[in-house]
Amino acid sequence: MLNIVLFGPPGAGKGTQAAKIVEKYNLTHLSTGDVFRANIKEETELGTLAKSYMDKGELVPDEVTIQMLESEVDKVDSPKGFIFDGFPRTTPQADALEKFLKSKNTSVSLMLVLDVSVEELVKRLLLRGIESQREDDQNEEIIRNRIRVYNDQTAVVADYYSQEGKFEKINGVGTIEDIFNSVCSNIEKYI
Ligand code: AMP
Repeated sequence: MLNIVLFGPPGAGKGTQAAKIVEKYNLTHLSTGDVFRANIKEETELGTLAKSYMDKGELVPDEVTIQMLESEVDKVDSPKGFIFDGFPRTTPQADALEKFLKSKNTSVSLMLVLDVSVEELVKRLLLRGIESQREDDQNEEIIRNRIRVYNDQTAVVADYYSQEGKFEKINGVGTIEDIFNSVCSNIEKYI
C-alpha cells in the first residue's frame, strides 16, 4: 500500500495536488478539514465541536480528530493506499497514525511537504476566502493564527518522518503542473 502524508501550511496547495495524486495513483483522499466541514454542514455533534476550534484557527483536540480519522479509514473497502491531507498535525496524531496503520500491516510510505512563504500563503488564502466562502479564509487574523499554529504545533511532525528517511520537501510556488511533476518524481522514489 502507498500511504502519503501531504503536508504544508494552510494555503500551500495540498488540496489541489491531492486531487491530482489521487487520480494518477488511485489512492483514497482523506482530508480531516473536509470531514470536519461536512460535519459542520450536517450539523452533527462533531461538527459543532470542530467549529468552535476552526472558527478561531485552532486545532481540534487530538482525541476527537484521531478517532474521526480512524473511523474514516475503516469505511474504505480494500484501499490501495491513502493520501492523508491535513493529518497528522501534532506528534500524538503521528504516533496514533503509525500505531493504527501498523495494526493493519501497513505504514506511512512518505511525507511530502509543500513549501510556500508566509506572505504568499496569506495572499492565496484571502483569495480563496473570496472564491469559496470558507469562513476561516476570510479573516486575515484567523489566517495568520492558522499559520502560527502550523509553525508552533504542526511543523515538528516533519521531524518525525524526516528521522525515518521518509520526508521530501517540494517548492510549492509555480504552476500546478510543475509542482505536480515534482510531486510525482518524489513519489516514484518510494514505489
Ligand atoms: P484544513 O482544511 O486542513 O486547513 O483544516 C481546517 C481546520 O480544521 C484547521 O484549522 C483545524 O481547526 C481543523 N483541523 C483539520 N485537520 C486537523 C487535524 N489533523 N488536527 C486538528 N485540527 C484539524
